[in-house]
Amino acid sequence: MEKSNIIGLLPSDLLSFLEMMGEPSYRSKQITHWLYQLKATTWDDMKNLPLGFRQVLSQRFDIGQTRIETKMVSSDGSMKYLLRLADGNGIEIVIISHRKHTTICLSTQVGCPVGCSFCATGQNGYTRNLTYQEIVESAWRAQIESNRVVKNIVFMGMGEPLLNYEQLSKAIQTFNHPDGFNIGSRHMTVSTIGIPDKIIRLAQDWPQVNLAVSLHAPKNELRKQLIPINDVYPISQIMKTVEKYIAMTHRRVTIEYSLWTDINDQREYAFQLASLLRGLLVHVNLIPGNPIAECHFVPSSPARVMTFARILEENQINVTIREPHGQDIGAACGELYGLHHKRGVVE
Ligand code: SF4
Repeated sequence: MEKSNIIGLLPSDLLSFLEMMGEPSYRSKQITHWLYQLKATTWDDMKNLPLGFRQVLSQRFDIGQTRIETKMVSSDGSMKYLLRLADGNGIEIVIISHRKHTTICLSTQVGCPVGCSFCATGQNGYTRNLTYQEIVESAWRAQIESNRVVKNIVFMGMGEPLLNYEQLSKAIQTFNHPDGFNIGSRHMTVSTIGIPDKIIRLAQDWPQVNLAVSLHAPKNELRKQLIPINDVYPISQIMKTVEKYIAMTHRRVTIEYSLWTDINDQREYAFQLASLLRGLLVHVNLIPGNPIAECHFVPSSPARVMTFARILEENQINVTIREPHGQDIGAACGELYGLHHKRGVVE
């Protein structure tokens, strides 16, 4: 019989398995404690489980089915991993060290179908959705490898999370569960280019999970040059959805805006963005663009980023400038994957 993966398995599914095996339900907590708190990687580590039951578990389940293939460490402490999946595909994980906490940036798809012009992942095409267990295992592996306890998760790596909604939602369930990673919903952020019906699903299912919408332009003509799917979901539809999301959750939405010289960082775009967002419970996160080989865009200079931020502030829009992380290891989404893809390492 082909083995299943225990990592990420929904606690309710683990309980069903225990019930089927005639084992007491408290074994679930014992197993998840070993997996997620003590980071056990073999069944033999789990000494408080009866030997016979450990043998049953080892015949039925693998403890993880992926491996870290490449690791890069930045001078600022950020780490980037290429994770090899069981079917040979590869995905990226980034661990970002802030002053007080550690955040992990997770992928939700192998590649991405959205095809943003400034994004290495988007330029390398789309292969498939990740399963929820692969998403959870990527965080589990990176925690073990980095020896960090991650308390914040952003779904901002390879892929558009809301185009893989069912698996994303199950992954959030395991991350959030007290017997899983036990990470509070408010410590998780889903970043999307704006898939309206799925934003509403997120508000219904996970109203405490943070929402970040990548806008990158205040006008459709400009935005569709950056995000081709804007033709399907124009800005007016996205903004109406953001309004509805805020009304449903009473939560502030982050608007992400990457800045590129003479592409979308001109003063008039800052004024247009301010007028688009006026009166909404939003916060703008300005991101100096990350250069990639596949795109000729030039990241905006600190002075241009400051000018853009000042215009927003003067128009009563909350704004922060994101600190760059991991620039020396190419922490922009998809670069490491792209490198291996081109070398033919990723099938
Ligand atoms: S920026 Fe995000 S949505 Fe756009 S292509 Fe890259 S991974 Fe996909």
